[in-house]
Amino acid sequence: MTIIDGKQLSETIKLEIAQEVAAIKAAGGKIPHLAAVLVGENPASQAYVGSKVRSCEQVGFQSTLVKRDASISEQELLSIVDELNQDPSVDGFIVQLPLPGHIDENKVILAIDPRKDVDGFHPVNFGRMAQGMPSFVSATPYGILQMLERYNIPTDGKHCVVVGRSNIVGTPISILLSRKAKVGNCTVTLTHSRTKDLPAETRRADILIAAIGIPEFVKGDWVKEGVVVIDVGINRIEDPASKKGYRLVGDVDFEQVAPKSSYITPVPGGVGLMTVTSLLMNTLKAAKKEIYP
Ligand code: NAD
Repeated sequence: MTIIDGKQLSETIKLEIAQEVAAIKAAGGKIPHLAAVLVGENPASQAYVGSKVRSCEQVGFQSTLVKRDASISEQELLSIVDELNQDPSVDGFIVQLPLPGHIDENKVILAIDPRKDVDGFHPVNFGRMAQGMPSFVSATPYGILQMLERYNIPTDGKHCVVVGRSNIVGTPISILLSRKAKVGNCTVTLTHSRTKDLPAETRRADILIAAIGIPEFVKGDWVKEGVVVIDVGINRIEDPASKKGYRLVGDVDFEQVAPKSSYITPVPGGVGLMTVTSLLMNTLKAAKKEIYP
C-alpha cells in the first residue's frame, strides 16, 4: 500500500511554479497575480483563503485579498467582480464559496470573466472541459488528475467509481476521467445519495473517488483488494484529546480501507493541499494566456 503524499507532491509542484516565476521575473515579465474575494467570517473559508494567499507568496506570485462583510449586497459584490474582470494587473481571481444566503452564487459565478476564472466554476470553462477543449479545470479535480499522473497510476480501461455528484468535485472528475486523455479512458460510474446499493457499486471500483462530506463513510468491506482510493472529504469530528477539540477525517474509513488499497490519499495531507496548488497552476496558465491566447 502506498500513501499518496499530497504534501510532498504539492511542494514539488510549487517549486516548479516558483522556478517559472523566477524565470519570468528575470526576463522582466509580469509576475502572475491572483486575487481572492472573501465575504463574511466563515472560519473554513477564512482558512482556505488564508492558505491560498500564503501559497501565492511561497511561489512568488502577487496576491490581493478583497475582504468584505457578510452584509455586502449582491450588487456590491457583482461590482467587485466587474472591477477584477477589468483590472489588467489581475490574471485570475476566485470568489470563495459559500456566499451568504442573500447572494445568488450562480449570478456571481456567471459574472466572472471565464479568462480569469481560475476556479473553473464558470459554465464556459465547465463546458469546454466537458468537450475536451482547453479550459480552467476546477482545482480539486485538477489536483486529483495530478496525483494520478505523478504517481504513474494507470487509468486506461480502469473502472472508476465516483461517490458524490457536486458541481465542483464529483461531476467534473467523472467527466475528466472518462475523457480520451493521458489521465482518462476510465469507465466511470457516478454514484450519489439516490444510488441503490452503494457498496455493491464501490466494490467494483479499480479507482474510488469519495466526495460526499460524511466522515469515514466508506468502509473496509465496500472496496476490493488493490483499489486506488482518492478521499476528497474534509470533515471535522470532535476529539477532546486534540488541542483544537476536533480533528479532520475524510469520507473514507482510513483504518479499514488502507490495508486493502494499492494507493490511498490521507486526510489531512492529501487532496486538500493539491487543491490549493492546482489553483496556483491555473493562475500561472492565466498569466501565460495558455487557455485563452
Ligand atoms: P456536496 O455536499 O456538494 O455534495 C455531496 C455529494 O454527496 C452529493 O452529490 C450527494 O448526492 C452525495 N451524497 C450525500 N449523501 C450520500 C450518501 N448517503 N450516499 C451517496 N452519496 C451521497 O459536496 P462537495 O462540495 O463535493 O464536498 C464533498 C466533501 O469533499 C466535503 O467533505 C468537502 O469538505 C470536501 N471537499 C474537499 C475539497 C478538497 O480540497 N479536498 C474540495 C471540495 C470539497
